[in-house]
Amino acid sequence: MKAFTYQRADSVTQAAAAAIKSGAKIIAGGTNLLDLMKLQVETPSQLIDINRLPLDKIEETPEGGLRIGTLVRNSDLATDPRVRQRYGVLSRALLAGASAQLRNKATTGGNLLQRTRCYYYYDVTKPCNKRSPGSGCAALAGFNRIHAILGTSDDCIATHPSDMAVAMRALDAKVETVNREGEAKAIPIAEFYRLPGNTPEIETSLKPGEIITAVTLPPPPPGVQVYRKVRDRASYAFALVSVAAIVDNTRGQIRSARLAFGGLAHMPWRVAQAEQRLVDAPANTTTFNAAADAVLEGARGFGANDFKMPLARRTLHSVLAEMTRT
Ligand code: SF4
Repeated sequence: MKAFTYQRADSVTQAAAAAIKSGAKIIAGGTNLLDLMKLQVETPSQLIDINRLPLDKIEETPEGGLRIGTLVRNSDLATDPRVRQRYGVLSRALLAGASAQLRNKATTGGNLLQRTRCYYYYDVTKPCNKRSPGSGCAALAGFNRIHAILGTSDDCIATHPSDMAVAMRALDAKVETVNREGEAKAIPIAEFYRLPGNTPEIETSLKPGEIITAVTLPPPPPGVQVYRKVRDRASYAFALVSVAAIVDNTRGQIRSARLAFGGLAHMPWRVAQAEQRLVDAPANTTTFNAAADAVLEGARGFGANDFKMPLARRTLHSVLAEMTRT
């Protein structure tokens, strides 16, 4: 491992000022970053530890939502009674991720910023535009079973690995940030992640030195909340397809619907047209297929991941059928 210096931040603005320097990286739970450093994928010259900053609270907002500090551990967030009662989709998504040991360390902000699990990204002997811009993409013609089918580019077909972010996308969360001048922003999660395009190394709208301080959830929308994750084994595996669904249904008629998908794209995937096809429609196979058509519009497989198209359709159908069963 390359030698690095270590600094413990005393304030958010101090951390932001330090993080803007070339080679500096923020560390919180470290559950992804330390693996990347051991593999020489990340070689920071300085680590800025933010673990002692007072950003580990879950608080009620005046609007009736929740404000989740960036250092709230995934296990604490999943088991918070307010989250379990009002944001079940988020609690379930968190518990579907990683292992209990990792959830005890992993933080809310770190979860949002975790890197793809593309095999070639972690193998420094292989070309990867995300790790080494301009070097090529080994996954395009390689083994791409876990890769994206939506929003891909000729430069990168990686997926975002977070379960938590998928649930937050369905909940219309906002990501709060602070920069070194102390200026605060609230970025809708719909605008937080980027598609790969020809700069797959840039994954979010965060500016250099901007630090995530919290995630805010608006009051929960009406309806039943479900998180369904389809993966190769029952635990400690990333999603091949996941669905975060919030559906309000009265006697077989759908009133409102929100759908976000994981495992399909470089970011949590949400298609307004798919949700519109469900609203005021009867809960039946024709309606569910119309929604799936909208979700999968423009989908493209790369060989080993072609199965994700029918899998996404079947998973959505199964989730909607279960949620609207009378
Ligand atoms: Fe790298 Fe993206 Fe290609 Fe994977 S899919 S090898 S992360 S450029």
